[in-house]
Amino acid sequence: MSGIDKPGRRAVLQHAAAAIGVIGAAVSGCASVEVIIVEERAFVPPQRQKKSLALYKDWPNKGDQCGRCTRYVAPGDCRAVVGPVSAHGWCQNFRAVA
Ligand code: SF4
Repeated sequence: MSGIDKPGRRAVLQHAAAAIGVIGAAVSGCASVEVIIVEERAFVPPQRQKKSLALYKDWPNKGDQCGRCTRYVAPGDCRAVVGPVSAHGWCQNFRAVA
């Protein structure tokens, strides 16, 4: 997983309210203040396939292997398939590192 925590809706709204207060204090002499609140998008964790559905095998396929795939997470995990996976394995989700 990415390890990056996204702020919850409450935290975003609290920060927005605080920002509005700061802006309001800074421009108290102005007639109006425009506030734009960008809607927070719901975080949907990526779904990973079972090895059997991905046709995973523990050996390379014509030179293609997990260690050269964009979805491989060293030392033995994968963003697309439920691990562990081998650096020398392969599945139908293989995407070569450029
Ligand atoms: S080849 Fe398949 S199992 Fe291996 S890293 Fe890429 S997506 Fe994951």
